[in-house]
Amino acid sequence: MNLKFAIGFDIHKLVSGRKLKLCGVEIPFEKGLLGHSDGDVGLHALIDAMLSASGLPDIGTLFPDKDPQYKNIESIKLLKKTLELVEKQGFKVSQVDLTFICDEPKLSPFYEKMKKLLSENLKLAPSEIGIKARTTEGLIKDLKEEAIACLCLVVLNKHES
Ligand code: MG
Repeated sequence: MNLKFAIGFDIHKLVSGRKLKLCGVEIPFEKGLLGHSDGDVGLHALIDAMLSASGLPDIGTLFPDKDPQYKNIESIKLLKKTLELVEKQGFKVSQVDLTFICDEPKLSPFYEKMKKLLSENLKLAPSEIGIKARTTEGLIKDLKEEAIACLCLVVLNKHES
């Protein structure tokens, strides 16, 4: 087995007038994440970890936020494209572990839905996907702007032919 590990990270500003989407799941909340795409920090951290572990350029290079074709794009489409690229390099996703850093809203009611969606899109058993969240105990509220961040560890397995 030839295993590759990488960490991805992303953070977006939380603002009024946007839908909140995390790991492709729409979450009812009065604010959403600002971004050129849908601002899905979960998928962006995951995509960057997958690209890094497979030796490909990062998310900003492959899907530039100046490119009009990615304006308001659902990040799940970027994940599908990323999986294609990673598979082309001979890799399979073996494990994913995500940690959101988020004071509000409470994300645990959505973990199962997120896992199901990631499992289907990564061709990976739900038991190999970890999702959790930590709060900042109100520290984010004290900042000028609110945000949600995400850290993601990915393990890829290269098939020797
Ligand atoms: Mg991003």
